[in-house]
Amino acid sequence: MTDITLAPIQPDQPSHLMATYGRQAISFVRGRGAYLYTEDGTEYLDALTGIAVCGLGHAHPVIAEAIAEQAATLVHTSNLFEIPWQTAAAQKLAEVSGMEEIFFSNSGAESNEGAIKIARKFGTQQGVRLPKIIVAEQSFHGRTLATLSATGNKKVQDGFAPLVNDFIRVPFGDVEAIQEAALQHPDIVAILIEPIQGEGGINTAPQGFSYLEEVRNICNQHNWLMMLDEIQTGNGRTGKYFAYQHTNIVPDVLTTAKGLGNGFPVGAVMTQGKAVGLLGPGSHGSTYGGTVLGSRVVYTVIDTIQKENAVENAAVVGRYIVDQLRAKLADKNVQVRGFGMMIGIQLPKDCAELVAIARDQHKFIINVTAGSVVRLLPPINMTQAQADDLLERLVTLINNYL
Ligand SMILES: *Cc1c(COP(=O)(O)O)cnc(C)c1O
Repeated sequence: MTDITLAPIQPDQPSHLMATYGRQAISFVRGRGAYLYTEDGTEYLDALTGIAVCGLGHAHPVIAEAIAEQAATLVHTSNLFEIPWQTAAAQKLAEVSGMEEIFFSNSGAESNEGAIKIARKFGTQQGVRLPKIIVAEQSFHGRTLATLSATGNKKVQDGFAPLVNDFIRVPFGDVEAIQEAALQHPDIVAILIEPIQGEGGINTAPQGFSYLEEVRNICNQHNWLMMLDEIQTGNGRTGKYFAYQHTNIVPDVLTTAKGLGNGFPVGAVMTQGKAVGLLGPGSHGSTYGGTVLGSRVVYTVIDTIQKENAVENAAVVGRYIVDQLRAKLADKNVQVRGFGMMIGIQLPKDCAELVAIARDQHKFIINVTAGSVVRLLPPINMTQAQADDLLERLVTLINNYL
């Protein structure tokens, strides 16, 4: 162990960090399951989990041991060699996703970049010169140039023109708009959507998950690739391993990241059916994608999710939280929505200040997205007792606020 101790950050200390985030003036030094701790030992209930990342909770002993053991053995060799842990991780991910081929990346945005490249390759192979991809309003797909261009949020795109071209935007949940776009643009080759929009405010389509079935039908009708961004909704978050499994359809391309590494930076783009085999040698790559260490983490995370029945837990405990919130906030003008451990509470007014109130007064870490939506992304293996703890803090918070 090193004996380096960092001095606490002073409020007026000059920082060399690019100011891309408005940070809260608090830092955590330790975590365990659903709880985070500051230096002085104060305990916080974490209903954010690093933005839907630490689905199995903080410092999970099995994941921590896998990381430590592999780090002390072999971290990285490169994709120029066979990597048995990568093969094993792909096998596991194929099992839980229903997909055939997997490419490992290091983040969500990178996974979506892979999906966009696959769509373009698919179109090009069919003689489409300028392939177009349908995307949704209020979507979020990442911060790289192609993914911010696909994102349906002007703030994300502001100042970064010229954007990557040939994304066609439709309202989320509106299948007629997709059919209309098909009539106007003969060069469409794919559609990329989130099953539940995360950053956009935990938006489910008005018709629920049957939206995905309708989109699947349209994709079949026009020979488009159906591509789902499950970077946030994947890995058990919504009470199925992937949110699309709430339906009977299978997408052609599926992306994930966040919960796939429980905090270790990994991502994946996956294909099946007509999307298989489009990317071959020389057409895609990543130095860090699927390192020995990263792959072992992916394998261990999926294995642990399975052994702990964490997906089923997310469904049951998430349902309980939603039901309790609906009952306990029935006299308030709020809407509770979401599936599993991906829950949004739409308040009647902007409520960004709730983040600080929850943190300082209730020792409770939450997020507010889309201005007026309290977003809960607790660990998917949260116990019933922890859910009761969460409910008590949250109901008090909202009752005091509204
Ligand atoms: C977080 C997120 C991304 C971007 O992932 P990064 O790892 O931050 O690049 C893309 N799509 C969705 C739906 C997300 O929630």
